[in-house]
Amino acid sequence: MSTLALTEEVRVARPVAFARTPVCDEAREAAVGVLSSGWLTTGQQVAEFEREFAGYVSAPRAVAVSSCTAALELAVRSLGLAPASKVLLSANTFCGAAHAIMHAGHIPVLVDVDVESGMPSAATTEVAAARAGGVAAMVVVHLGGLAADVRELATAAHLPLTMVIEDAAHALGTLTQDGHVGALSRATCYSFYATKNLPIGEGGMLTTADEEFADAVHAARLHGMTKDAWRRYLPGGGWNYDVAADGLKANMTDLQAAIGRAQLKQVACWNEDRRRLASEYDLRLGHMEGVLLPPRSSDTVHAWHLYAIRINDDFGISRDELSRRLAAAGVGSSVHFIPLHRLSWFSGRVEVPPKGLPGADEVFARTLSLPLHPMLNTGDVDTVCEALSEAGGRA
Ligand SMILES: *Cc1c(COP(=O)(O)O)cnc(C)c1O
Repeated sequence: MSTLALTEEVRVARPVAFARTPVCDEAREAAVGVLSSGWLTTGQQVAEFEREFAGYVSAPRAVAVSSCTAALELAVRSLGLAPASKVLLSANTFCGAAHAIMHAGHIPVLVDVDVESGMPSAATTEVAAARAGGVAAMVVVHLGGLAADVRELATAAHLPLTMVIEDAAHALGTLTQDGHVGALSRATCYSFYATKNLPIGEGGMLTTADEEFADAVHAARLHGMTKDAWRRYLPGGGWNYDVAADGLKANMTDLQAAIGRAQLKQVACWNEDRRRLASEYDLRLGHMEGVLLPPRSSDTVHAWHLYAIRINDDFGISRDELSRRLAAAGVGSSVHFIPLHRLSWFSGRVEVPPKGLPGADEVFARTLSLPLHPMLNTGDVDTVCEALSEAGGRA
């Protein structure tokens, strides 16, 4: 009897991590293959990954780099803007995009967000562009995997689509009427960070339909060395090269690319898992008092990188208290994002309107991203939703 009671008491649901990284068997084998090949840095695997990735998203060109942040910096640099140009950026995004703009020598102009979508609207974009006295370019983020309307935002900013860069770190698998995101803008940047829909650990990709732009990024990712300077160490390669442009050290390695090629074959399946898990959350949380489901749109396909709920006053406790209680119950959660103007480095370095960014602050106070990755099962979703309900929600 007492043993049973004890078992009952210490029985806890299996902890649910906010994120875990799936690595398929083929990726493991591919990694070992590269390690035994005698060539670890940028080479044939990178070239093949670029070709296959471009095919997957139907982009004419793809250039592999060390991270999405590097892709964004290379993209902004390759726009050829005058020094200290103003570049529109959502206040509710990852700091990497702001760093990219600043490292390229420009000034991020923060755009407030629509409280529903968490992203800039045509209206907030127009206000930010006008306040800045005109802008030279814009970075558009597809938050959580929900498509932003690139055409509408470019019009609102009075920019041609050639001056728009897409941050698609969450959006591999996001589809609009134009197909995969990225079909309209100058360049689109993807992340292969450990938690993203195509995880390698670290890595990024830039896609574009502009051949010259692709060539410029290709050179600039490796010191601005003339094309294929890496071949100088291969049998029969010549030692000679030129540095013909400014550049970064932001090349992808063959080890990353080999893992990426194998993982790319799983992405459609993993995205399907994400979509299914998202609808399981929808079912369980749809009627929970004080909980708003993540925004979506009926005419686009969501990549479900994040499942971010909003908590309102009816929930009974704050977002911070909820996240603490979930953690105590063994459930991981996260916040996307701390608005850029709330990060100390950026205050005084980015343009913020005198009245602040109330939309971004409102979303920040209420948003919470729940675990969503292909290694979760239905039981895990139950665990998360039960923990939410016990923490404050009245189902
Ligand atoms: C993860 C992320 C990035 C940065 O990606 P890295 O590959 O880590 O540089 C950029 N933008 C957004 C919205 C992200 O979530």
